[in-house]
Amino acid sequence: MNSYRVMLGEWELVSLCDGCFRLDGGSMFGVIPKPLWERKKPADERNRIRLGLNALLVKSSHGLVLLESGIGDKMSLREEDLYGLEREGGLMQALDAEGCEPEDIDFVIHSHLHLDHCGWATRDSGGTFQPTFPRARYIVQRREWDAATSPDPRSRASYDPRDYSILEQKGLLAPVDGETEIFPGLRVVHTGGHTPGHQVTYMECGGARCVFLGDLVPTRAHLRVNWHMGWDLYPLDLMEVKGRILREAARRHDLLFFTHEDESPFAYVEDEAGELRLAPAQ
Ligand SMILES: [Zn+2]
Repeated sequence: MNSYRVMLGEWELVSLCDGCFRLDGGSMFGVIPKPLWERKKPADERNRIRLGLNALLVKSSHGLVLLESGIGDKMSLREEDLYGLEREGGLMQALDAEGCEPEDIDFVIHSHLHLDHCGWATRDSGGTFQPTFPRARYIVQRREWDAATSPDPRSRASYDPRDYSILEQKGLLAPVDGETEIFPGLRVVHTGGHTPGHQVTYMECGGARCVFLGDLVPTRAHLRVNWHMGWDLYPLDLMEVKGRILREAARRHDLLFFTHEDESPFAYVEDEAGELRLAPAQ
């Protein structure tokens, strides 16, 4: 998939794709019947739908920020087949194409620590997993760190400790509690819903604002408030915060970023008499 870029005031936002993968369509839409979701996201012969693995590079006056780090390269061949991984180049090549070395990244912000979001946070270096971005502060909600390091039985398979264990030992982990300003114009907001410590990121420059939604709204097809994933641990909390964030985004003309969209990850949202609709960003 191509990179998409937009200007947010003087900051440049560049989507970086780590490829696409496939998950069971039923699990991606929870209680929504297949005849409804299949019109938006057609299922393959194994009932899987195609999802993007989109990270976002923020070139700001306060430093370089990477939001999410894809699915990484820790999967076995069997897992690659199970997840239908398709990748040309991937995140590290996309970063390189932007002229960025891993050492250049100042902040890495993960919405949560599921393995399809923080895959490149670490990589194999002579048999041990080391931080990929050695100068970065890795920002995650403390509640998410606690959930990832002692996962409940339902969530265990969604976390891979190889992605993050070393970060704390290396002193690169920057856990935050609730809403936190990282630097002027960039702040994370705890949402919960999908996982106990899920967060979204707001970026604001020159009067324009963008919200990085993480798994609160994974694709364009999840715009309706009650269309959410079967994976979500706290569905009612998720719907409440999702409705609030999307309606505010419509009112304030916030740009949205969808982590798992396999088409353009940027869009605007409009509120037409209570009905949310997408509007193109480019
Ligand atoms: Zn995800």
